[in-house]
Amino acid sequence: MVMDSPKPDIIQTLQNEGVELKHRGRSYIGLCPFHQEKHPSFTVNPEKQIFHCFGCGEHGDVISLVQKLHQLTFRQALAYLSIAKGASIEINSREKRKRQLVKSFRQWERACYDELARTRRAYTAILRDLGTIEAVERRAWIYHELPVLEYHMDLIKQGDDEARYRLYQEVSNARI
Ligand SMILES: [Zn+2]
Repeated sequence: MVMDSPKPDIIQTLQNEGVELKHRGRSYIGLCPFHQEKHPSFTVNPEKQIFHCFGCGEHGDVISLVQKLHQLTFRQALAYLSIAKGASIEINSREKRKRQLVKSFRQWERACYDELARTRRAYTAILRDLGTIEAVERRAWIYHELPVLEYHMDLIKQGDDEARYRLYQEVSNARI
């Protein structure tokens, strides 16, 4: 097979694919495009031009990267990266990546809302069964927590995307 061009830079390629990376020491780190994660375990070594994810174990070079990202054969990946001529493949990677992000965000929204609703039911049940003022006092935090929880539920149901995304980040950061 005739190679027309050298391999493109892996950092540049990842950025073109919509994967955000941060410089850390001699490598780059970011959220893995191959599995869902809250804090980054996807590392890229610019010297060796390879990636490795400590979360899911995916690893490889720029060619296997796009193969895995877009389910391409080796030959298709070479064409996609303009390393070798080949049948052009229609992939709008930014759009595709964006769609994936939106999809996982929507999944999170549903899961988060369900979780909040479950917690609210549990809290309400506790409050209903409190007999004495002492018992109420011990559970005072629920009185503080409940409106926050309901506010978050409203935000997910009615808020705009930006507000929801801020909540998403807030919750994600809190879990780290
Ligand atoms: Zn991973």
